Amino acid sequence: MIRLAVRAPAADAELVLAALLELAPGGVEQVDRDGEVEFAVYGAPGELPELAEGVAEVGGVEVVVSGSEVPDDWADRWKRFHEPILVADRLYVRPPWEQATSRAGTIDLEIDPGRAFGTGSHATTRLCLELLARLDGPRGSLCDLGCGSGVLAIAAAKLGHRPIEAVDFDPLAVEATAENARRNGVELDVVRRANLREQPAPAADVVVANLMRPLLLRVAELLPAPPPLLIVSGLLDDEADEVAAAFAPLVERDRRSDRGWTALELAGPA
Ligand code: SAH
Repeated sequence: MIRLAVRAPAADAELVLAALLELAPGGVEQVDRDGEVEFAVYGAPGELPELAEGVAEVGGVEVVVSGSEVPDDWADRWKRFHEPILVADRLYVRPPWEQATSRAGTIDLEIDPGRAFGTGSHATTRLCLELLARLDGPRGSLCDLGCGSGVLAIAAAKLGHRPIEAVDFDPLAVEATAENARRNGVELDVVRRANLREQPAPAADVVVANLMRPLLLRVAELLPAPPPLLIVSGLLDDEADEVAAAFAPLVERDRRSDRGWTALELAGPA
């Protein structure tokens, strides 16, 4: 695959783009640089507009053209960023293209994010996994609010929670969660679409919600009764107190932060 780059003065960017779109109706990438704009089109050799390398004219503007070869698998390159992680010395979360762990006493989770959020490696997810892994006491029912790839619900199932419900308003997340449960040989009792902005969260012994502040405040507002135990994540450090207070009478039992993100474990007063 070839990437053909066309650099033009920023002031003439629109003229060049208009001309390029005629030549390459499939789309043009734009990178803004100091005083300059770089447009790029991708294609197999022979599929690209005929532009000589070096100084050329596009749309009446003098531009500099350069071609470079990009690997055919460039669309798959993002996979490199999904590294396996070990959480609480107990949960090994990895993408499908990494080998399962053989470490004794470690729970292996294979998570394909697909187009849903949640490889496990995001700080907000990791903090939830850590709190889930460290919970003591009986592993009762659990509900995962905004399940994304299903990573939290599947981890909970492997940690012994039953029954489990996972909800998300994005149909791709519902699909990814069901598919990841199958991959892991785990049965989730309910996986369904729900809009947590409009419907109260389902009840469970443990509720885990890796959402963000505005939606968490809304979830708090709609809850008929707080669950015995609630794990919330997706909070910026300075949002944590406000969100904890919104779930009163639950009180804070644990707080963990990483890279500016905070997760809270809230429980009924003893
Ligand atoms: N639980 C996963 C994903 C968290 S991302 C993890 O921890 O990695 C947050 C998820 O909430 C996304 O999948 C998004 O689709 C979902 N979400 C956002 N707004 C929602 C709403 N109003 N109702 C239900 N789910 C919602």
